Amino acid sequence: MPEENFHLPLHPIYVSLQVTESDLSMLQTLKTYFGYDSFRPLQQEIIANVLARRDTLVLMPTGGGKSICYQLPALLMEGTAVVVSPLISLMKDQVEALRANGIPAATLNSGNSEMENAAIRKDCLQGRIKLLYISPERLLGETNFLLKDINVSLFAIDEAHCISQWGHDFRPEYTQLSVLRQEFPRIPMIALTATADKITRQDIQEQLHLKDPRVFISSFDRPNLNLAVKRGYQQKEKMSTILKFIGEHKDQCGIIYCMSRNNTERVAATLQRHGISVTVYHAGLSPAARDRAQEDFINDRVQVVCATIAFGMGIDKSNVRWVIHYNLPKSIENFYQEIGRAGRDGLESDTLLFYSMSDIILLSKFADESSQREINKDKLHRMQQYAEADICRRRILLNYFGENREYDCGHCDVCLNPPQRFDGTILVQKALSAIVRADQRISTRLLVDVLRGTFTQEIIENGFDRLKTFGAGRDVPARDWQDYLLQMLQLGYFEIAYNESNHLKMTESGRKVLFGQEKAMLVVIKREQPKDKKAKQTKPGKETGRLLLQSEAMQEAEDLYEVLRAHRKKLADEQGYPAYIVLSDKVLHLLCSIRPTTVKEFGQISGIGDFKKEKYGKSFVALINQYLKGK
Ligand code: ADP
Ligand code: ZN
Repeated sequence: MPEENFHLPLHPIYVSLQVTESDLSMLQTLKTYFGYDSFRPLQQEIIANVLARRDTLVLMPTGGGKSICYQLPALLMEGTAVVVSPLISLMKDQVEALRANGIPAATLNSGNSEMENAAIRKDCLQGRIKLLYISPERLLGETNFLLKDINVSLFAIDEAHCISQWGHDFRPEYTQLSVLRQEFPRIPMIALTATADKITRQDIQEQLHLKDPRVFISSFDRPNLNLAVKRGYQQKEKMSTILKFIGEHKDQCGIIYCMSRNNTERVAATLQRHGISVTVYHAGLSPAARDRAQEDFINDRVQVVCATIAFGMGIDKSNVRWVIHYNLPKSIENFYQEIGRAGRDGLESDTLLFYSMSDIILLSKFADESSQREINKDKLHRMQQYAEADICRRRILLNYFGENREYDCGHCDVCLNPPQRFDGTILVQKALSAIVRADQRISTRLLVDVLRGTFTQEIIENGFDRLKTFGAGRDVPARDWQDYLLQMLQLGYFEIAYNESNHLKMTESGRKVLFGQEKAMLVVIKREQPKDKKAKQTKPGKETGRLLLQSEAMQEAEDLYEVLRAHRKKLADEQGYPAYIVLSDKVLHLLCSIRPTTVKEFGQISGIGDFKKEKYGKSFVALINQYLKGK
């Protein structure tokens, strides 16, 4: 990492530390160092609580803006804030982002050489570091030496749910953090997490011995994430949809989550054949290969990463523009955490979930065989309900996390395209009759072949071609049958016997439909949802709205964006930073629409603090002026 020259005091604000608790100085610090004009919900209250030296617990979704909640107090308090974080890559990313804003920060970890660590210790002792990131195992070794000798302003425990066995990321090293309170009874502590249910929350407070903490729970809504589900697609159709999707997201990076290692490799190979730059990430790779994949993705050297759930915890990349789930996740918690990796910068981002019968079969089997059988089955069921939803998907998510949302979001796929139903009784009867005639010893795959009248070896061997219903559903394409069967399963007309080769068994409600006692309403299948991508990209986000309003007449020009993006990449490579740390995608978009022509105007852009204004203003403004002249 290149050395920046940090001179303390960093800014006149340090001289006036006494007045720091006023809202004004908080706002001023926010603009000076981070370049933002206003706080996000709860940030200001949280910061005030920390500055009042009270313990704090923060629950905020990924991308909600947790970091500023301790970074800003760290700037306003005397001494060094000590931040505990579970992964070296996370610490590195945070430290780079801080230094890129002119804030002296460092990380003590096993990835550094001993010489580097010694230099950092010295800087801390001399009061030259405002934020020190440290891994939990390292922290223990330092409690009696370094931490006793430096002036610790506060302790921030990031990803605090790692302390709890109830959380899904338990890390034994985290439990040792309980000594902090004993050793440093007077230093305020702030614990932060994006995922904590009630038990985990309680556990965090107890294990860290937080003193009468104020708990801040922010809305889990991520309005900038678009939500969409595709039901009943088979492999081939999934792939063509993904290729089209990536085509619509030219140069925008994203993650494809798959259930198995095999799938990640297979999907990646197909994308590669179509000229898309892609890497894979799963637990079966060597640590070095995984690091490489992660670095390539962070530094925009590849556009796509195909990954199992093992990927993502260690990355803070703010410009992930989309997330696709190739397979159904096993719970809404997993799903929400994974899609949460898109759009951290607040810009609109797309998410797409594929939902198919084979996933249900496999995941149900896993849940059935797991130690917490009932809980896991229930979680899967909730996930299925989300995928099958015919009401606003965002409402389902928020209600799941205990937020009572009483209105529709207006921009998930259900809100945009409410499902229409039709009387599908005859279709259901055809399927159920085939199941019964096959003695309820038939899987979905074969059932589709029977309905379609497809002669395959398996069909002939089983004598299914002699069934009366063979070919009875020839007029419906196979992929539509997949969809209807999934709907029938969800409506409870048949069940899958997971322990009997996944054979289908008719239920009592199925029987009623088969014998004409009840009607079956199915959802009309829509294959395409035309989207106006162009309009979407320039649609102002919540925070940028005001600025964009002034420039509504200006059309964001793609070629200017490309010029600025290339310049950002050059600066990033020169400094060894990822591009999004130099300037975020959001800032780049703002530059294109507002087009500042002086360094002063450049500094007024949201996301540009004083340090970046001085460092990058001139060169970006020159490019913009050049562009304007050439028009
Ligand atoms: P989290 O740690 O909660 O996942 P971060 O702290 O990384 O989220 O913040 C996510 C993004 O939001 C970052 O790009 C950050 O700079 C930005 N951000 C944070 N606070 C604000 C704010 N008040 N105004 C605008 N952007 C903000
Ligand atoms: Zn909605």
